Amino acid sequence: MISDYIRTSSVSEVVDALVEYQPWGRILAGGTDILPKTRGVRQKKSIPLVFIDVNRISDFRTIKMENGWLVIGPAVTIRDLIYSNLIKEEAPVLAQAAALIGSTEIRNRGTVGGNIGSKNASADLLIPLIGLKAIVEICDTAGRREMNLEEILRKSVKDLGRRLVITAIKIPTGQAAYFGYKRWSRESMGRSYLSVMVIISPEIKAGSYRLKAIVGGGGLWPRSVEAVMPVQQLSATKSLTLLVKLLVEKGEKTNRRNMGDYRRQIMEVLLREALYTACEGGRF
Ligand SMILES: Cc1cc2nc3c(=O)[nH]c(=O)nc-3n(C[C@H](O)[C@H](O)[C@H](O)COP(=O)(O)OP(=O)(O)OC[C@H]3O[C@@H](n4cnc5c(N)ncnc54)[C@H](O)[C@@H]3O)c2cc1C
Repeated sequence: MISDYIRTSSVSEVVDALVEYQPWGRILAGGTDILPKTRGVRQKKSIPLVFIDVNRISDFRTIKMENGWLVIGPAVTIRDLIYSNLIKEEAPVLAQAAALIGSTEIRNRGTVGGNIGSKNASADLLIPLIGLKAIVEICDTAGRREMNLEEILRKSVKDLGRRLVITAIKIPTGQAAYFGYKRWSRESMGRSYLSVMVIISPEIKAGSYRLKAIVGGGGLWPRSVEAVMPVQQLSATKSLTLLVKLLVEKGEKTNRRNMGDYRRQIMEVLLREALYTACEGGRF
């Protein structure tokens, strides 16, 4: 049940409104995730949600370069990511991942902040943002601070949109790395069942490279593994064997159910494709 709607024009107004309307205040961006959730159980229980609209905060809708960082406002839409020249130049993998999200309507309305704030492991921007080493600027009554995205997902994801406001997403530019990103969904326009990103970067120590893989999808929060290998061993087959072994081991330690045989096989196929793309020189 929607009991009220507040339009804000600054971050401090959002923080104040979240405090005032606790526990029912919720940030509203594109609404493609939160609005459908107001139906069903919440409607039956008559939970009186108060929507706090952040779309009028001007900084929230811009994409810019700042001191070597690509800075993305949280109310930037998925569509903006696809067509922004800055994103195409500085983080093409993000544009590529954005283009695979939902339908035209969802891409037009859905935002970057809403994707992170949706508290859904299958949110498609999580893996490329983690692969790009994104830092998320957040704000609450204690002020602004920065955290890396993986840490937010681990520690504070439940507070996003309720106590915590995402105020910017920052990506370091000029990263010397090659990437491959692959996503698989069970139905067209459906959410990701499994997504994989592989990153190959030169190590500081000459003669070796760092191999990193991030995997996530429906019910499977992003998990990453990495290894340093001598350059002589830069073969897709050896790298694939190693990554699969590390990911399966990690999956078994954390959540056996989510890395069952079926998903494991899909993961191997996606990893192979992502690895080949990275080996061929896929660029950030
Ligand atoms: C038919 C359909 C298909 C979809 N397909 C996909 C898909 O393929 N891939 C995918 O990833 N997603 C998909 N989605 C989910 C959703 O559309 C996206 O995740 C979208 O990016 C959400 O953005 P939004 O602006 O609409 O979020 P909203 O619905 O406005 O908000 C989502 C959550 O984020 C919080 N939030 C929003 N902004 C902030 C902020 N600045 N700070 C803190 N919290 C914030 C809100 O409080 C809310 O809890 C789909 C949804 C539908 C209905």
